[in-house]
Amino acid sequence: MNDDNSRELYDRALSVMPGGVNSAVRAAIEPYPFFVQKGDAGHVIDADGNRYIDWVMGLGPLLLGHSLPEQVQAAIQQKASEGPMYGTPTAVEVDLAEFVVRHVPSVEKIRFVNSGTEATVSAVRLARGYTGRNKIVVMQGGYHGAQESTLVEGTHENPAPSSAGIPQSFAEHTLPVPFNDEDAMREVFEEHGDDIAAVLTEPILANYGIVYPEDGYHEFLREITNEHGSLLIFDEVITGFRVGGLGCAQSEFGVTPDLTTFGKIIGGGFPVGAIGGRAEIIDGFAPAGDVFQAGTFSGHPVTMAAGLETLQFAAENDVYNHVNGLGEQLRSGLTEIVADQAPSYTVTGTESMFKVIFTREGPGKESLEEQCSAGCRQRPTCPRYDTCPKNAADVKNAETDRWRRVFWGQMKAQDVFLSQNQFECQFVSYGHTEADVEATLEAYKNAL
Ligand SMILES: *Cc1c(COP(=O)(O)O)cnc(C)c1O
Repeated sequence: MNDDNSRELYDRALSVMPGGVNSAVRAAIEPYPFFVQKGDAGHVIDADGNRYIDWVMGLGPLLLGHSLPEQVQAAIQQKASEGPMYGTPTAVEVDLAEFVVRHVPSVEKIRFVNSGTEATVSAVRLARGYTGRNKIVVMQGGYHGAQESTLVEGTHENPAPSSAGIPQSFAEHTLPVPFNDEDAMREVFEEHGDDIAAVLTEPILANYGIVYPEDGYHEFLREITNEHGSLLIFDEVITGFRVGGLGCAQSEFGVTPDLTTFGKIIGGGFPVGAIGGRAEIIDGFAPAGDVFQAGTFSGHPVTMAAGLETLQFAAENDVYNHVNGLGEQLRSGLTEIVADQAPSYTVTGTESMFKVIFTREGPGKESLEEQCSAGCRQRPTCPRYDTCPKNAADVKNAETDRWRRVFWGQMKAQDVFLSQNQFECQFVSYGHTEADVEATLEAYKNAL
């Protein structure tokens, strides 16, 4: 596989950009990432003309794949050609807000921003303003963007910044606990209950796993936050408009958070974020309320049109059936391959998300008949239940070096582009086909 152009571009990039990239994860590929020239349905073509089946899909935003339906493309081009933006409202912002309010259970009002990071920054500020409290509980291994309140690791007894440049005194307001651990959550509320503004969690840990919630876990979070007057914030930047269709993961789990953060799909492939929730809380944002929040590009017409047309297309076509069906085929195919070739590994994901976690321990081959058939659901009667990952620590214990140093490259050599590290989710799009799924399963069979 020739990669002269990518290598040359990376060489140039290293001289003018830190690590040669504009987002840290993109440099995870060694020795250097391939540069993309263009997309085509479920594929990308790199700067040297190599074509890959793409399961990264922009790290989540591209529900429809790389080839946008004509109506989506037309709306984007029209908005771009009318003059990019104005600093005063446009109709398409209201249209997209109405669409989201109509479909997502927790959302009565919404504010659009420019990234998932900006959405969680603003949601945390809003929660603190609304409750008059300082502390935020997060899940270990949860990802909420590159921001001060959530780049925190350790335990709730000993939180520490996970990045240079964040004061320890900031980190002290963030309390990390393990996902799926009710006792740890009870403990943190016993200790800090009166000062907890919110619990902030992804409904499914999608940036570290994928880890599915145990049955009843979100109901438990809803109860304990209610009891203590804290807010429950679902970070649906990945799961929003992917899991649970247009109702998002909250409709799938039947648990309504106070606030929801969005990003990725809601902007149809353009920079976006949003904070939605109960009107009474969202009205805390200035100018309705006293929590300051503003942005030059917020509600950008091109982004709003791309998001609206993408979601409308999904509402009127068989998008979710298509992506969820292929996801099911992938996960059940992987489950069979893993049972045969690497029985300790765990197939995870749901709907259009999938991953194989290289867990070191699992049940014996002979007992696998009753296992979750298309992705780990934390089902207590599954023979894998005692060894399947339930939180970030479990995921971290997997064979991540094998994944990174051996497996990822073997997949790339077979023209399959998987997420840049072991921890991130992979996505099915409307552009993918059964042939893509079959070729990918064949590649896993060769590489595992
Ligand atoms: C991607 C992501 C973010 C950050 O969004 P950006 O647009 O990259 O700032 C926040 N939360 C979750 C769950 C994400 O997956």
